[in-house]
Amino acid sequence: MAVDPLIELRDVNKYFGELHVLQDINLTVGKGEVVVVIGPSGSGKSTLCRAINRLETIRSGEIKLDGKLLPEEGKDLAMLRAEVGMVFQAFNLFAHKTVLQNVSLGQIKVRGRKKAEADKRSLELLDRVGLVSQAPKYPAQLSGGQQQRVAIARALAMDPKALLFDEPTSALDPEMINEVLEVMQQLASEGMTMVVVTHEMGFARSAANRVVFMSDGRIVEDRTPEEFFTNPRSDRAKDFLSKIL
Ligand code: ADP
Ligand code: MG
Repeated sequence: MAVDPLIELRDVNKYFGELHVLQDINLTVGKGEVVVVIGPSGSGKSTLCRAINRLETIRSGEIKLDGKLLPEEGKDLAMLRAEVGMVFQAFNLFAHKTVLQNVSLGQIKVRGRKKAEADKRSLELLDRVGLVSQAPKYPAQLSGGQQQRVAIARALAMDPKALLFDEPTSALDPEMINEVLEVMQQLASEGMTMVVVTHEMGFARSAANRVVFMSDGRIVEDRTPEEFFTNPRSDRAKDFLSKIL
């Protein structure tokens, strides 16, 4: 089934000095699609996510969101980052602000909402991730899994068109991984467009429409999870899977 493209990368190249970190990347993420990106450490997964959010510039090629080229700078850049929310491995909450303030701040600054309106929306979203009772607390008073769920609520509060997750559970103790994956699974089933870098193969199997396998700055495979896990084509993917499964 063909879906409207939301995120489109065409012939994207990026270098860090001599290192050709993204090589001729072509990737389309349709509206409502969940694309899981996997691959060895250093293969360019984080750089790919960061380029989609303009946290990294690219040398050549183009990246579009909803048919429009990404802005280079200014107010449009803040809007882009609201529309494509990003959830990082390190939760990146503001330590000196409460949970509620963390979720409300961007809504007020970027979306221009009044504080009362922002707080109302924040409480709805905190309820959705099971944390409404934690609203007055500071991040350090929460577990890692709870902090990551706050980070997801904060991204959702901007009414994003898509969410990028860069190894959202890698910094968590094992018993907290599922509570975060469950929230992500729920978002996926509600039709959120998501690009998820993860080593959680159970999530990839159950939530992904497509698995993209990266190696040395290239997309080596881009297939359904079923195809990828049962019959990886490339030796590099076979080797990777043999190490992690
Ligand atoms: P992954 O997320 O797949 O582990 P990254 O996108 O973080 O890979 O990194 C890809 C390559 O780019 C790695 O070799 C890494 O060392 C290098 N790299 C990442 N960020 C920078 C940077 N800011 N400056 C120079 N090299 C970088
Ligand atoms: Mg990374």
